[in-house]
Amino acid sequence: MKKDLKGMSLAALAEYLKSLGEEEYRARQVFRWIYRGADSFDGMSDISGALKDKLKETSEISAIEMLYCQESRSDGTRKYLFGLSDGNAIESVFMKHKFGNSICISSQAGCRMGCVFCASGKAGLARSLSPGEMVDQMLKAQKDTGERISRVVVMGTGEPFDNYGNLAEFIRVVNDELGLGIGMRNITVSTCGVISGIQAFSTDFPQANLAVSLHAPNGSIRKGLMPTAGKQDYYELLSACREYARKTGRRVTFEYVLIGGKNDKERHADELAANLRGMLCHVNLIPVNSVSGRAPAPGANAKAERFKKRLEAASIPATVRRGLGSDIDAACGQLRLSKTNSWVSG
Ligand code: SAH
Repeated sequence: MKKDLKGMSLAALAEYLKSLGEEEYRARQVFRWIYRGADSFDGMSDISGALKDKLKETSEISAIEMLYCQESRSDGTRKYLFGLSDGNAIESVFMKHKFGNSICISSQAGCRMGCVFCASGKAGLARSLSPGEMVDQMLKAQKDTGERISRVVVMGTGEPFDNYGNLAEFIRVVNDELGLGIGMRNITVSTCGVISGIQAFSTDFPQANLAVSLHAPNGSIRKGLMPTAGKQDYYELLSACREYARKTGRRVTFEYVLIGGKNDKERHADELAANLRGMLCHVNLIPVNSVSGRAPAPGANAKAERFKKRLEAASIPATVRRGLGSDIDAACGQLRLSKTNSWVSG
């Protein structure tokens, strides 16, 4: 099997080329070409023919394939469906903001967590993505739009901390100035709360942003909404978050999907505020998108505003997420679910 060079950090690539008997500076050349979008060795004009031949024999630059793209008429959001070499499919969302462009990428094909409100986990986990498959979502979106992406959130399908090693290599490539050149502060990882992952992340990437999908004011409601992730003790999770904030000096963003009657009452806001008291954090309230692809129910925003005021009254900073791309199934997993039901395994 050929070695996939896409998604290898510069250090790993240098090590690999050394094992092929090449000088270290060659790694910088090859690395730069890959993140300028090269899908083959042929166009690498500063590389000798002999090295190209050696690389073609031993290595490859993998590529995912764009199967489908939906563009929002209202705000320029683009949702992509990409095919992987084994027939699985993943999705990514490109968004335009005043500060530049961002992308939400997937870390797995499917998800094993099975959160009740989420479309991504409906068919279970097919497999984790390689670092190359993660980075290629960005390269393909840049190529398609002709625009640079300056922020990335790992908040698409999958649980990134269920795929920690590949996620870490992906972050190194994205952050490398010869790679995607994106600063750590513009890289965000969203987890359903895998405690060991939070701990490793605080050591490995203390400058990156952490978002934790909390969605509940206590452990029993959380278990009902998040059957797998909710098995971990609620207070242990919050302790790990407090420790993260203490160690890195960075605030944790808690995502909180508001689900009518389940977790959106004033008493839920009060209980949440009490549990988060004193932590360097911020709550991002998300009016739930129904899995069938409909936008949140009318009145959902007003309700979210009330919940937000209640948290703020208890000194917990909160925002309500602005919905981009609500006309194009831009909520998690919906496009993949609607287009690919028949060929997603797992
Ligand atoms: N596994 C990671 C990342 C993927 S989910 C995590 O749990 O954070 C990304 C975010 O989208 C999570 O906060 C998730 O709870 C939220 N989400 C999932 N389904 C949703 C829906 N139907 N409406 C609104 N947000 C949803």
